[in-house]
Order: sequence, then C-alpha cells, then structure tokens
Amino acid sequence: MIAAAVLADHVHVDLYEQGRNLGRKFLVAGDGGLNITNSVEGEALMAHYAPAELLAPMLTDFGPLQLRAWLEGLGVPTFEGTSGRVFPQRGIKPAEVLKAIVDRLMAKGVSIYTGCRFVGFDEHARPTMERNEERFAPQADAFLFALGGASWPKTGSTGEWSHAFRAIGVRVEEFQASNCGVVAELPRPLHPHAGKPLKNITVTCGAKTVRGELTITDHGVEGNAIYPVIPEVRAQLAAMGDAEIIIDLKPDLSEERINEKLRDAAWKERMAALRLDRPSVALLKAYTPVQRFLDGRTFAHDLKHVRIPVQALRPIEEAISTVGGIVMDEVNEDLSLKAHPHLFVAGEMVEWDAPTGGFLLQGAFSTGHWAAQRIRARFGLPEQV
Ligand SMILES: Cc1cc2nc3c(=O)[nH]c(=O)nc-3n(C[C@H](O)[C@H](O)[C@H](O)COP(=O)(O)OP(=O)(O)OC[C@H]3O[C@@H](n4cnc5c(N)ncnc54)[C@H](O)[C@@H]3O)c2cc1C
Repeated sequence: MIAAAVLADHVHVDLYEQGRNLGRKFLVAGDGGLNITNSVEGEALMAHYAPAELLAPMLTDFGPLQLRAWLEGLGVPTFEGTSGRVFPQRGIKPAEVLKAIVDRLMAKGVSIYTGCRFVGFDEHARPTMERNEERFAPQADAFLFALGGASWPKTGSTGEWSHAFRAIGVRVEEFQASNCGVVAELPRPLHPHAGKPLKNITVTCGAKTVRGELTITDHGVEGNAIYPVIPEVRAQLAAMGDAEIIIDLKPDLSEERINEKLRDAAWKERMAALRLDRPSVALLKAYTPVQRFLDGRTFAHDLKHVRIPVQALRPIEEAISTVGGIVMDEVNEDLSLKAHPHLFVAGEMVEWDAPTGGFLLQGAFSTGHWAAQRIRARFGLPEQV
C-alpha cells in the first residue's frame, strides 16, 4: 500500500488483493493496540533487524520518523508509549488507520481490485491473476509483490505463492515461526498459573538476554521477553533437537543482594521478602530439584537461573511473524529479483527477521517504500516533492 501511494504520484497503479478487503493482517496486528513502529533510530534501530546491513539503507530512507510523518499527513498522529513503542494517537482505531491509507490510495487514483488472486507466472515470468475462476494477465512495466509471510494464514498470508516463485527459479526458504511462544512440558503445579504474566524478568537463550514479560500458557511460555530470543531457540533446536531458556526472576538484584535480603527472613517469609508473586514462586519450584530447593543454599542462584527445557516452537499459525521466504541472495539492491528484474518484492515475503515492538510493520513499510522509490528511479520518474 505504501508503494502504491509513492508510485501513484507518477504512474497508474493497479493494486490486487485476494481477500475481500485490504489489510486483514494489519487489522489483526491492531487487536492488542496497533504498535505501528518504534522510536529508536540509527544503529539502535538497525540492531533489531537481520540481516541489518541489507535493510539499513531502507530503514534510513524511510524509517520511523518518516513513517510517523507520513501517517500524520494522512490524519493519523502517533504517540510514543513504553519502550519506544509507537501507536496511533489514543482513540484512533486500527480500522481508521487502514481507511486513511486506503482513502489516500483512492484519492491518488490507484485502482484497487479485491478478490483477485495471484496464481503463477507465464513463460515470460509475467504474473497471472485469477478472479471468479477466470484468469487474466495484468499488463505493466514493473510488478511489485508484497504477499506476506505465512503466519495467521486466515488473514490471507498463507505463503502459497512460494511455489510460483520456485517455478521461475527463485530460491524460497521454507517458512518457520518467529515471534512465537515456545513449547515446554509444564510440571503440574504450574497448570493453575496458565495465562498469568511474570513481569520484569529476563530471558536468556545462548548469547541473547532480553528483559520484559512472559506468560505461562497451556503449552509452555510466550511473551515479549521470549520473542527476541526465538532466533537462538530456533538455532539450538535445529542443532540439538532441544533448547533451553534461562529465566532471571530478579534481574535487578545480584545474588549477594538477594542473600542480604534473606539473611534475617524466616523460611516462610523468603518469598515475601523478595516480593515474589505466586506464578514466579511456582515457576521456581517447578524447575528446581526439590532437594536443592529445600536445602536453600543455592536459592539466590536458582532464582536468577530458572532453566526451562524447550521442545519446539509453537505452530506457525499462531506466530506473530515468520522467517523464511525469498532469500536475500536472489534479490538486487533495489528489491527486484536478480533472475527477473521486472519483478520486485517487499515486506515479510522476503527473508528478514525482526522482533515485536513495531519493527515488523516498520520493516514492511520501509521495504515497500524502498522498492517503490527504486521503481521510480529505474523508469526515470521525477523525485517526490
Ligand atoms: C497477531 C499479530 C499481531 C501483530 N502485531 C504487530 C504489531 O503490533 N506491530 C508490528 O509491527 N507487527 C505486528 N504484526 C506483524 C505484521 O502484521 C506483519 O509483519 C505485516 O503485516 C507484514 O506485512 P506484509 O505487507 O509483508 O504482509 P501482510 O500484511 O501479510 O499482507 C500480505 C497480503 O497479501 C495478500 N496475498 C497473499 N497471497 C496472495 C495472492 N496469491 N494473491 C493476492 N493476494 C495475496 C494477503 O491476502 C495479504 O492481504 C502482527 C502480526 C500478527 C499475526
């Protein structure tokens, strides 16, 4: 949609969507508050993306400031919440943001065709579309695809397009869940705590430590402290078949400080002395061998090293995003395909990864904007004023 908005200033743009409406996943993303971007800039912004060096020019060209300015121009002012997360101003619903974007496209003369599905390529690698079981071949000098990844397939992002791209010789990695919960066998005493959050903890996997919140689920744990360590979890699962996350229930207290606080506390008062809530206590007990827990001498260490064995990632259907898709090696600097330079790709269908916090939508907007600007440059269209 952002690409159509950029290009429609210079050329006629046709926009095709297989669903009945545009932006279903955008609306799903808005369900818990539409975290549309993040306020971090420069190196700190790039550090959230992989591969950072390839996305850096796109994030520099159209980063959080530019996205916020563009939204403001659509009548959607934004505000910065906690941890730099940026949202549309309070009272503006996700559907209103989407409507503002679609209205802008229509005002610029973009022709929007819903119920039109991309089904494959002809022998010249030109796309074939299908509507009401009738096939047709749209005519254009350049085609930009933004077909999404494969999480939450009921929104239309199914990844089925992968076959068509493989058929024209483009390497597409299988999709895997990212920004998702992990599967862990939860000891029975934890079951009553399903749905409860553990706040202000850190999660470590491999070399990565993240501070935030996690929630005990029926199948394991999930939450904003888990999502950024998923790449490490995925790597451990691939290498060894299982993985381990380590939870620090008191990241602000050193082991020495914990021991000091416990020095005069009776056994029963220990949890209260450290202000540990019930889910935290249950988690600690569940993953600490009982003799060790009762012995108590390693209490401070164990509190800061709750080791949870992980068996798998939660299914792709539940994930917030996916990794996989068109591999970066197949793509030119302008986001056209090396093998078929009249085809451009953007958004989550390309193999890049980022954590939650507004970085996913920002990545989709940045890559879409970049591809549009490069199309503009390739065809000698004037710069935007
Ligand atoms: C529950 C949930 C919460 C999220 N929350 C956030 C958040 O708060 N902040 C954030 O930054 N990100 C969030 N995300 C992630 C974000 O929504 C996605 O990263 C983003 O939407 C990707 O944009 P995209 O344009 O690449 O693809 P998509 O938004 O997936 O759009 C792809 C479109 O292509 C269409 N399409 C697919 N195949 C075809 C075809 N063959 N023919 C025609 N059309 C086709 C689909 O129907 C779809 O409309 C969330 C995701 C989920 C699932």
